[in-house]
Amino acid sequence: MIGRWRAELRDAALEAEFRREQLEANADWVGRDAVVGALVYSSFGITDVFALGWTATALGLVALRLGFLGFVLWVRASVRRGPSLLLDAPVAVGVQALALAIMLVVTTARSAEAATNHLSFTLLMLALFVIVPDRLVRVAATTTLAIVGYVLVGLAVYDMDASERATHVMTLVGFGAVGVMAAGQHHRVRREEFLVLREQRRTNALLVDEVERREALESELQWLADHDPLTGVPNRRALLRLAEQAASAARASASHMGVLVIDADHFKDVNDRFGHGIGDLALQRIASVCQSALRLGDAIGRTGGEEFVVVLPATDLDQSKAMAVRLRDAVAATDPRDGVPALSISVGVATFDPRHDMLEDVVQRADRAMYAAKGAGRGTVECAVDCPSES
Ligand code: GH3
Ligand code: MG
Ligand code: MG
Repeated sequence: MIGRWRAELRDAALEAEFRREQLEANADWVGRDAVVGALVYSSFGITDVFALGWTATALGLVALRLGFLGFVLWVRASVRRGPSLLLDAPVAVGVQALALAIMLVVTTARSAEAATNHLSFTLLMLALFVIVPDRLVRVAATTTLAIVGYVLVGLAVYDMDASERATHVMTLVGFGAVGVMAAGQHHRVRREEFLVLREQRRTNALLVDEVERREALESELQWLADHDPLTGVPNRRALLRLAEQAASAARASASHMGVLVIDADHFKDVNDRFGHGIGDLALQRIASVCQSALRLGDAIGRTGGEEFVVVLPATDLDQSKAMAVRLRDAVAATDPRDGVPALSISVGVATFDPRHDMLEDVVQRADRAMYAAKGAGRGTVECAVDCPSES
């Protein structure tokens, strides 16, 4: 994945992604390190003055070094404004080339100090390996050119014998090689890190997807566990749970609660005459018509084949009966359409008295009342206790 010599990712798109991702961080530390490096570099101007005295040459060298510091500060500001300046490394390489070029001028001007120049040049070269981000080939190429330049200048200006020259050249080449190797390892590690992080992010994204899928599945399962899939209203279990909660609230507030048992009339006939599919549509219609007629806080559930139970919190017998009539009338008033014929329901009404009732007893009373409504001719509402009958 990572090239042996270039220390870059073999996949060009991936390499581009890596460099883009490093931009912000690089802009930050490259800027800081370059300024520190340039400060040290320009402060070496003191040695120019010590070596050459207050001469025009020394002042020229100091000016060059300060110019370089200015250039680096400008580069830093530009990179901060637009980190993409670092993308193809021309700016970083430009800084490097300028620093090395100035060093050649210093070498020429201070030709009597071969050993000092040699050390300074080596220091500069190594600093640049650290400062130029992520582009080994460019750094290595510029440094090689600079070494060649320095050696040529050195050969021309230094007064050395062959052995000294060879040592000079070989130590530079050696430091250069160590610099390339160290930078290469650093660049390689950064890319390996990037690959690991990328893989982690991919796995995380997959995990997040999986968690979301499971959550969706779980809520679907939860919905299925609590609802009747045909009509979408709560099933028997969920309705009874809601009724229990409403009964507890009724006990707490000492209020009554209405319970209605609804049964579709002659439903077997609907199936026999129009088919089971239309029968299903008819059940959906009864459920939705009743649901829209209910108040906020009321609940309806499908408790059996063509049977529904309604829970009416904080509702006394008269109000419950009125609601039963309202539901009965709403279903009766539904226009036949989509093949579904006119429908009717019979409703049994009972109320839960928090002082002495158990929920099951109330449901049973409402159920018996529903059968009474059937007996009264269907399409009727009957109450479990004394209440005026309604036809
Ligand atoms: P009654 O007026 O006395 O209530 O008569 P009925 O025909 O409604 O009562 P019965 O209990 O004889 O028949 C109930 C019918 O409801 C029989 C059954 O096929 C039908 N049914 C129950 N569940 C479903 C369902 O999910 N879909 C359809 N299409 N029919 C259903
Ligand atoms: Mg029926
Ligand atoms: Mg029935």
